[in-house]
Amino acid sequence: SNPKPLNLNEEILKLKPLLDRTIPKMFEIRLDLDPQAPTIQADAPQIAQMVMNLVVNAKDVMPEGGRLIIATQAVLETSQLPPSLKPGKYVQLSVEDTGPGIPLEVQDKIFEPFFTTKPVGRGTGLGLAMVYGIVQNHGGTIFCDSEPGRGARFRIYFPATSETP
Ligand code: ADP
Ligand code: MG
Repeated sequence: SNPKPLNLNEEILKLKPLLDRTIPKMFEIRLDLDPQAPTIQADAPQIAQMVMNLVVNAKDVMPEGGRLIIATQAVLETSQLPPSLKPGKYVQLSVEDTGPGIPLEVQDKIFEPFFTTKPVGRGTGLGLAMVYGIVQNHGGTIFCDSEPGRGARFRIYFPATSETP
């Protein structure tokens, strides 16, 4: 791993061609990138792997197509932070889909290695365990929000590198 000051928006834009190749045409991919997002200290290939694992999961649960929103947002005020996070500046990355969502009893287990609800041979159960590990490596925090029937949203908070972006 080779952490460097990184602009998450730029990394996501660099992934766009890969996203377009990975996601069938019937999907709508929306990027909603906050130009104020501060720099983070991160390893670019790990960030790419993390985003792709989330995107592939969203694609897998929407065989008929759907909408995928990848968004960044600067979080500069402590009042905007989930209470479990240390005060400071952060970037929030969210990956949201319009699929079936994740039942509550399943949400507890999704970050465990080898947990999968997919048929044998279709899922390894390692994608989100890897995402979780990458988030940890970067001092981040991940949340899964899902109301079953209304899609799934993964939110990741990365600490900003410095006070001034
Ligand atoms: P895999 O994709 O191989 O099953 P993952 O670790 O990537 O393993 O995901 C674990 C499980 O979490 C999936 O099998 C699925 O049940 C659930 N999951 C992950 N992402 C989503 C999503 N976007 N919508 C609904 N369920 C999801
Ligand atoms: Mg997966």
